[in-house]
Order: sequence, then C-alpha cells, then structure tokens
Amino acid sequence: MPGGHYQVRSPKPRHSIYSLTDSSDVGPEEEEVDDVTPRLTPLEKLTTDMCKDETTIKELIIGRRVGFYKVRGEIGCGTFSRVKLAFHALTKDKVALKILDKTRLDSQAHRLLSREIHSMESLQHPNVVQLYEVVETPSRLYLVLEYAGGGDLHNHICSEGKLSDSASKITFAQVLSAIKYMHNMNVIHRDLKAENVLFTSSGCLKVADFGFSKRVSNRSDALDTFCGSPPYAAPELFKDESYLGPPVDVWAMGVLLFFMVTGTMPFRADTMGKLRRSIIEGAFTVPPWVPGPCQRLIKGILKPVPAERYAIDQMLGCDWLLPVEFPWVLFPSEPASPVGSLLDSEGLDEEEEEEVRSSLEELGFTTEHLRNNHLKDSRSPVTGVHRILLHRARKRRGCDSLPVVRGMVRDPKREGLRAYRGLRHTSKLCVVS
Ligand code: ATP
Repeated sequence: MPGGHYQVRSPKPRHSIYSLTDSSDVGPEEEEVDDVTPRLTPLEKLTTDMCKDETTIKELIIGRRVGFYKVRGEIGCGTFSRVKLAFHALTKDKVALKILDKTRLDSQAHRLLSREIHSMESLQHPNVVQLYEVVETPSRLYLVLEYAGGGDLHNHICSEGKLSDSASKITFAQVLSAIKYMHNMNVIHRDLKAENVLFTSSGCLKVADFGFSKRVSNRSDALDTFCGSPPYAAPELFKDESYLGPPVDVWAMGVLLFFMVTGTMPFRADTMGKLRRSIIEGAFTVPPWVPGPCQRLIKGILKPVPAERYAIDQMLGCDWLLPVEFPWVLFPSEPASPVGSLLDSEGLDEEEEEEVRSSLEELGFTTEHLRNNHLKDSRSPVTGVHRILLHRARKRRGCDSLPVVRGMVRDPKREGLRAYRGLRHTSKLCVVS
C-alpha cells in the first residue's frame, strides 16, 4: 500500500477522511459524500490526494513521498542508512529522513535501531537532534529527524582548521549541555565524535546518531558492549569487561575538545594495537599554545582511571568555561529534563501552546485527532506534525540561540560548581555525574 502503514480510506467529511488514529468503520453512505466538495482543510486535501491523486500515489510508490513528507535529494549516508532531505507536506518544514532498508538489517542492527529510537524519543534538547516521527513500511524504516544543514564538526575542522578559543568554548559548551542533559535522562551516547556533531544553518550545535546509545535504568549500571569509534574510546573499553556509561562519554568529550582546539587527535597510531596501547597509557601532549585553563580541562578529562576523570559538573565549573553564558536554563531541579522548563512539554507556556494549537487547527487537525493521539507515539503522523510545530514555536522563542562568551561575568549558580574543581573523584561522584 502506498504510504506504508497508514490506513488510507475513502474520503468522508472532516477528521475521519484519513484514519490517523484508529480504524473506525466507514460505511457506504459516507463514501457517497465523495464528490460533494466542501472546503477541504490542508490535512483533508493531503489525505485525499494520498488515496486519489495519481501523481501523489505514484510518488508514494516510488518513494518520492513518505507518509506526510516529500522526499528530496540525499544529504548523507551511514553504515546502515541513507539520509535524505525532506519537507513536511503540510507545515513545509525541512526534515532529515534517515532511511533504513529492513531487509539488510540483521538482528543486532535491529536491536541497535530500536535503541536509537527509544533513546531519541526521550530527548528534547536544543543541542540534540530531535526525532519527530517514525514511519514504517514493510521493507523500510524512516526516522524523521530535525534537519541540521550546516555540516558536521569533523568536516568543518578538516576544511577550515582548528577552532579559535572562543569558537571552541561555544562549541564545547553546547556539547556539554547536551551530554549533561542525556545523562540526566539516563541516556549514554557511546558514539560521541566530531562526525556526529552537526550544525544547523544558524550555527546551533546538534548531537546526532544515537545508533549506539543506551538508555539505562540507572547511571551506575555496568555496560559491557564495546562500541563507538576507537580513537574516541576510553581506556576501560579496551581493558575491562564492563564499564560505566557516563565516564565513557566524558572521555570522548575530552578527545573532541582536543580535536577542536588543536585540529589533531590526542591518540593516533597506524595500527589498532598501537592505538589501543597509547589510549591505555593515556599518554598525550597538549601543544603549549593551548590556553592554560583549556589544557587543565583536557588533562582533567583524559584521565585513564574513570573514577579520577572529571565529572560533567566539574567541567561546567572549570575556569575555561566560566566566561560562557548559556542561553537556556542549565540547572533544573533533578530529575526533570535539564534544559528544563524550556523544552519540557509540561513547561509549555500558554502562548506557545496556543500557537501550536492554532497552527494545528489551521491545518485541519481537530481536537479529536489530538485526543486520540497522546502525542507520545512516534509512529503517528499527528505526533510528527505536533513535534515539528512545537519545535518551530520554541525556535521562535530562542531555544536554538548560541551561548555567548563574555568577559568574566560570573553566573552565581555556576560559581557554586567551582567547588568541584579541586575534588578528586570517588567512583560514586563519577557515577552521579
Ligand atoms: P554511521 O555509520 O556513521 O554510524 P549512521 O548509519 O548511523 O552512520 P548517521 O550518522 O545518523 O547514519 O547519518 C549519516 C550522515 O547523514 C551523517 O554523517 C550526516 O552527514 C547526515 N545526517 C544525519 N542526520 C542528519 C540530520 N539530522 N541533519 C542533516 N544531516 C544529517
């Protein structure tokens, strides 16, 4: 069936034209209303086209359309996926469509994919690529993602060289904010690397690719699968049978920071064996021209013993990042979502809620559609359009603004974190980072 798992029905007036939520019966009388053309809402027009318009149906069959999305050219490709640019047919927003051929996935790849979806569904943060919707057909799975069209950090540094001190601060602060949030949400990324750090066209950073991520029930849970990219891998991944998630992401952040400020990798070798040895030894040299506060941060992160490694809050309180002013709340009350009220749906302010509701209404979504979809199910097109509109409203409120580097303006809340600086880590402190 074109359009995959959607149930397309003959048109009937208003919200039952296209069953978005359930399979309520459509009687023959209702089908007779067919040719009476009341003014159609955009949703009705689209869903009617999806089952009646030849061109639209053809586009659905050949993959030029997927669900409510019009597909355009390829923007990237990964081990198991191709990523294409697409537009939401109703809202016109650009999205990235990650396309996976289910027939090529073995059971392990299936497991990783479910984890990727499971982790992403729980995350809404200005510096994390958002999952809008999942569309499934018998042969393919499509992840509809927030579009980050400004390229990735790896290509940026390879083509333009290392970042300036100020650009490194702005970039690293956003990675730090994203990882702090993920860890608070019990998600361990496990594949943090410059290739997975994307930018929007306005320069806002988005951590992407949750293919190796793991949602743990507790941050102190031991993990036992080696994953990620070897040059970013923490020593314990090569040595121990199990490891704690947060320190592994922290180590990768240290490698990333080194790469940003020097344009080179701290651990390099021409064979895997040598790379492994040099990571386990933890021997690296920070060039002397790297500013002292940044050198201290790198050395605090790249400690071979996980329990001695900086925790996220120590990084936030380090001298190097003190001049950085974050545009969003960094210190929400635990365990709620960290960047908090800004992006927590319960924290939606009335104005934002009204904006989203009226846009949905204009498109033709009724209260019944919204009631039938609890807006949590990623496989519903109603959730997809709701998340897109919500994200748009939040962007208007400045959620994609960049951190600013000021003189030495002190944030009293972060000042409190300076107390962490001299602290040697016990493994307990490390675990709650
Ligand atoms: P890998 O083999 O590196 O793990 P993967 O199969 O998990 O890759 P991704 O890394 O998620 O696939 O995506 C592949 C490429 O597609 C990325 O390198 C990037 O260039 C592009 N891409 C992915 N997501 C987006 C996005 N949200 N916005 C823009 N481009 C994206």
